[in-house]
Amino acid sequence: MVATMNISRREFAKLCGLTLVGKSLSTDLNWAFPQNTELRHASGKRVIILGAGLAGLAAGWDLYSAGHDVTILGAQLRPGGRVHTIRAGLSDDLYAEAGAGRIPSHHVITLEWVRHFGLELEPFRPQGLAEIALLKGKRVKIPADKPVDMSLVPLNLTPEERSIGLKDLGEHYYGKAAKQVGDRIPEDWSPTIARFDGMSMQEFLRQEGASEDAIHYISLGFENDSAADYIMDLVNLSSPLSKIKGGSDQLPKAFAAKLREVSITVARSSTSSEAKTMCASGAVTLGCWTT
Ligand SMILES: Cc1cc2nc3c(=O)[nH]c(=O)nc-3n(C[C@H](O)[C@H](O)[C@H](O)COP(=O)(O)OP(=O)(O)OC[C@H]3O[C@@H](n4cnc5c(N)ncnc54)[C@H](O)[C@@H]3O)c2cc1C
Repeated sequence: MVATMNISRREFAKLCGLTLVGKSLSTDLNWAFPQNTELRHASGKRVIILGAGLAGLAAGWDLYSAGHDVTILGAQLRPGGRVHTIRAGLSDDLYAEAGAGRIPSHHVITLEWVRHFGLELEPFRPQGLAEIALLKGKRVKIPADKPVDMSLVPLNLTPEERSIGLKDLGEHYYGKAAKQVGDRIPEDWSPTIARFDGMSMQEFLRQEGASEDAIHYISLGFENDSAADYIMDLVNLSSPLSKIKGGSDQLPKAFAAKLREVSITVARSSTSSEAKTMCASGAVTLGCWTT
């Protein structure tokens, strides 16, 4: 049990998340990039942030800019959390993304940070190439410029689904809902969206009349996710996608370097006990919670 508790764990998580998740914020970014750090005021708190993922790093910068003394404790040896580029063991400057790679065009805050740090973007994948789907153990080509040959598709689809074709199947079932849900969580959580959130993707597709194989194909194994969340993701992934040229890890690395510049501590703690001690001793006054 920790003595100081100024905000709840949920509030703290929300605070961190708000700085990262572009989809839940307005596109007015002025607040996120304070140009004049002299605006920092004297009534700052001592803040501890657990986790040096992008949320922790961005929250660290924002809280520093707002005048607080920030310490970020990470459980890993590198900043970035689930933004993880593997380079070790690969030759010729090759790398592999083990975490986030795609940046949809509406992730305005991420994109703005990418621009802010002078990182280059490129299309997420080469244009105009076919995709390969593994359907019931069979490789099926999905050409970029023409419909899929449905005679090669080993799914148990209804005659109507076969005539619609693999490429348009998703649009057929969730196209209308996608227009209602949109590409981000709206501030006014309407009853329509609440309804979609109250059912799984599987329940939604079943309600729309999809066959079991169509449900499996469209849901990509995420049948039990909230229909609202999954449909929102599908909308996002249909927008132009970029990636950071040279590897996603350049973004957290740039953040960590920026934080070091202004003497924000980004330290490693293998457990949260160090943080608890700091909270209990009163060394930090914001972001402490009971566990
Ligand atoms: C395989 C994969 C692919 C993805 N692809 C995409 C994509 O293409 N596009 C996209 O936008 N998103 C993608 N994501 C999601 C994206 O990576 C995450 O939403 C985002 O990185 C989350 O950032 P975060 O800072 O909130 O959390 P995290 O990155 O998880 O950071 C949390 C950090 O806190 C640390 N931590 C936890 N507990 C403690 C503790 N007690 N003390 C100290 N530190 C602690 C963790 O070690 C971690 O470093 C993907 C995720 C994965 C796993």
